[in-house]
Amino acid sequence: MLLSKFPRVRLTPLPTPLEKLERLSKELGVDIYVKRDDVMTLAFGGNKVRKLEFTLGDAIAKGCDTIVTTGALTSNHARLTAAACRKLGLKLVLVLRGRDRQFPRKVKGNLLLDYIFGADIRIADVDKSEIPRVLREVAEELKGEGYKPYILPTGGATPVGVLGYVNACMELIYQLNERNLEVDYLVHASGTGGTQAGLVLGFKAFNTPIKVIGVSEGTPVETLRRKVYDLANEAAKLLDLNVKIDDSDIVVEGRYMFGGFGVITKEVVDTIKYVARTEGLLLDPIYTAKAMYGLIDMIRNGEIDKGSKVVFLHTGGTPLIFHLDHEVREKGEIPSSV
Ligand SMILES: *Cc1c(COP(=O)(O)O)cnc(C)c1O
Repeated sequence: MLLSKFPRVRLTPLPTPLEKLERLSKELGVDIYVKRDDVMTLAFGGNKVRKLEFTLGDAIAKGCDTIVTTGALTSNHARLTAAACRKLGLKLVLVLRGRDRQFPRKVKGNLLLDYIFGADIRIADVDKSEIPRVLREVAEELKGEGYKPYILPTGGATPVGVLGYVNACMELIYQLNERNLEVDYLVHASGTGGTQAGLVLGFKAFNTPIKVIGVSEGTPVETLRRKVYDLANEAAKLLDLNVKIDDSDIVVEGRYMFGGFGVITKEVVDTIKYVARTEGLLLDPIYTAKAMYGLIDMIRNGEIDKGSKVVFLHTGGTPLIFHLDHEVREKGEIPSSV
């Protein structure tokens, strides 16, 4: 009801599954459920799909025919926007940051998929701060050619995109009620803040006392808190909700960045191996493995009490294992050939 007046495209069947991690729960003494937003039918799925349902719905409603978006060379958002645009018959320009030194320019993983989807790929050799200018220039160029471009910022982090995770809250609350489950925490990987904004707003709007902990993948804590705050309150306005998100509603955990965005340490790969070997569940090296490391650490050091119930939101990103295969092999003591 709340969301029905907003244009939306359907990109994957929902709800995504909610599964209990039985063996991990037993080992850690906390009931851990995983919300499988990595399980979607569109191009390996992930949290960006939920935002795209609303942002691309908005683009089409506004008569736009071309999407201009951006990200790192490894971007999950770029891969999923490329797939979604193909599915909807939209033209797409991807402006990918070529200057992130932690990512080699080899075409593989998500970048390989961007090429398979036939995106118009522009490698921007500029500082991150100059990307908005490049996006505007590309949009001007497209207008000159007769297209109607729609600029989508990195991660799809706009108030409209946030609606995707307000919707996910309703979905999750329904799943928890169905199973008579009362959950204390939701832990997830946070980056541009859109996902966390939707979760914080959704749970507050529906009076659901689940504490959301966003684990930063490398964005400085204060920057991320500010983004979540702004996005959540702008989305509340968009929705005409009489809800105000306060600073105290936003928990951003900055202890598990391991050297910053895209930096992969042995602890990160050990977490991927541990969860894969305990549960058969795959995590990605940039986002979900760091968030899971944080969850396990907070349980082990008592910040999350034994006997608590936790939802771990799996935000996707699994193709990053193949993008950063070299790093995963090296830190994971896995041979490079046999
Ligand atoms: C983009 C991304 C995130 C971060 O989500 P934001 O909404 O940008 O905060 C987390 N996990 C994965 C796998 C992602 O691709």
